Amino acid sequence: MKKITALIMITIIILCSCSISGGEKKAVADFFSMDTYMSVTAYGDEAQSAVDAAKKRIEELDSLLNAEDKNSEIFRLNSDGKAVLSEDSFELVTLALKYSSHTDGAFNPALHPLSELWGFIDKKYRVPDKKEITDALKLSDTENIILNKKNKTVKLLKSGMEIDLGGIAKGYAAAEAARVMSGYNISGAIINLGGNVRTLGKKPDGSLWNVAIKNPVGDGYLANVKTTDKAVVTSGGYERYFEKNGRTYHHILNPDNGYPADSGLKSVTIISDNDTLADALSTALFVMGEKKAERFYKKSKLGFDFILLTDDDRLICSKGAADILSSDYEINVIE
Ligand code: AMP
Ligand code: MG
Repeated sequence: MKKITALIMITIIILCSCSISGGEKKAVADFFSMDTYMSVTAYGDEAQSAVDAAKKRIEELDSLLNAEDKNSEIFRLNSDGKAVLSEDSFELVTLALKYSSHTDGAFNPALHPLSELWGFIDKKYRVPDKKEITDALKLSDTENIILNKKNKTVKLLKSGMEIDLGGIAKGYAAAEAARVMSGYNISGAIINLGGNVRTLGKKPDGSLWNVAIKNPVGDGYLANVKTTDKAVVTSGGYERYFEKNGRTYHHILNPDNGYPADSGLKSVTIISDNDTLADALSTALFVMGEKKAERFYKKSKLGFDFILLTDDDRLICSKGAADILSSDYEINVIE
């Protein structure tokens, strides 16, 4: 099985192409990293160099942050219970804890043992019993993650604790890809890291980028968002799940009870200037559900807009999102 996966991974698209579009040079890289399909497109004289640099930076981050990669810093931290980290890894663990605290624990970067228990790591899916869940939850208290900013060390106080940055790493990588690309002579770019989208500049015809948000049901789109220089990040239970005895279990876990979050939402999209924040919040608001998410939005000073699709197919969004989206759904706006 592993061999087949490896073969598929090798044969899938490590495709880099360069062409002319609207009088501008265009470069595209489609590749697999951070356990998802990614696509980076840029326009302009240095489009190819910009795309190459973005891909390199994303792969570098994956090799540091991927908890499943035996050579990564996060793997080492999880196995040893302590580690001196690079700037990137330390920064992201710090941000993960910050957003965990902002979201009152809905975003929790210490759920790796729980994800393992449900089989979301090795893809041997199973429904754990209550005792197993209670035990794994005891390892998810973020108070037991101790950071030392000066030495860049992280310590996990309880044996068996494990960090998982899967809910935030793609956002950080998108921000870094955008930062790296903006150092090149390009007129615009669109970075899609498996649902973490970041736009830069304009399309070759001078118009805004059009980001299509997948409808969790069927093949169509939930909405289209017109943006520039923003992150548009979507989380949903439909991204990774398994079925057992007629029930569906997905990969976004509720840190309060250890089960897949059952908060009445099908998907959450966050629009923000800050990709890393957007990634953390898309996961967190999915856990919170409609009412808590609305209260959080009204209270929060973090700077974001949101689009929710509820289980009963209502599209709810903030005013800032309503101003830039089009959808076949009736749009319910939260002021
Ligand atoms: P995303 O697609 O950004 O919503 O991230 C989902 C991934 O984040 C999962 O595959 C887990 O690796 C991790 N995860 C699951 N539940 C949580 C949670 N409540 N807080 C933070 N990360 C989570
Ligand atoms: Mg996320």
